[in-house]
Amino acid sequence: MTAPVFRFAPSPNGRLHLGHALSALKNFEMARETGGRLLLRIEDIDLGRARPEFEQAIYEDLDWLGITWEEPVRRQSEHFSDYEAALDRLKVAGLVYRSTATRKEVADEIAAREAGTGKAWPRDPDGAPLYPFGSSDSSADDVPSAWRLDMRAAIDRIGQDFSWTETGEGPHGETGEVTAKPDAWGDVLVARKDVPTSYHLSVVVDDALEGVTHVVRGRDLFWSTSVHRLLQTLLGLPAPVYHHHRLILDEDGRKLSKSRRDTSLSELRAAGATPADIRRLVGL
Ligand code: GLU
Repeated sequence: MTAPVFRFAPSPNGRLHLGHALSALKNFEMARETGGRLLLRIEDIDLGRARPEFEQAIYEDLDWLGITWEEPVRRQSEHFSDYEAALDRLKVAGLVYRSTATRKEVADEIAAREAGTGKAWPRDPDGAPLYPFGSSDSSADDVPSAWRLDMRAAIDRIGQDFSWTETGEGPHGETGEVTAKPDAWGDVLVARKDVPTSYHLSVVVDDALEGVTHVVRGRDLFWSTSVHRLLQTLLGLPAPVYHHHRLILDEDGRKLSKSRRDTSLSELRAAGATPADIRRLVGL
């Protein structure tokens, strides 16, 4: 039997905080307990926000926590051609369309529909309004544009319910075999205008290319797994086992954010915290 493969996949657009520490430590420990491997992936497709000093700080923070990972580290910005190849397959399959509406056009359309129906426009599991336009726009091929998945067509293509194996827990205690509900996300972005990929697309391509068998991450990404399983099924990629863990909340019960300095690992370290303190703070 081949060894399980885990990965920690932070985005270098801010300092790591206690929530990241919990994720990284869980991945590290689960890999160790199962005789598995731990990979580190830098998810830096957001070229406007990713910064080398944040990437450097990720290595320092993980090192300080006593976490070790396999080299080489995969940096997503160096693999755009892999994501583009997957995007091309979705294009050939007729499952994606160009998304050219501006933020303002989207906001105006939603406001108009809400005014027209007197009902709130549906929102995705993250609370963002669903994209209100369909695949009507087939404008010139050579214009750079974002791409969206035609959710209806994608679900119809699979033609049956699909699920994932969850060994952690969802927001309402979902565990075991969880039925995916990708339609809750509407026509998700599969490629941004500036890069030929999106979070959803690159994460499934990389998990497959790197042979990841176990995805361990925060519960805030639980329902994203529906989209990941959909893309995996459409692209013929294997399904890892998923484990979503509890989130670390601030005093007001909110999810920690990268812009909050007081819970960043580097600030805590500078204030004299030890790795053992961090483990205690995250409840390990
Ligand atoms: N890069 C994502 C983040 O930092 C995590 C992606 C994942 O674990 O699937 O939130």
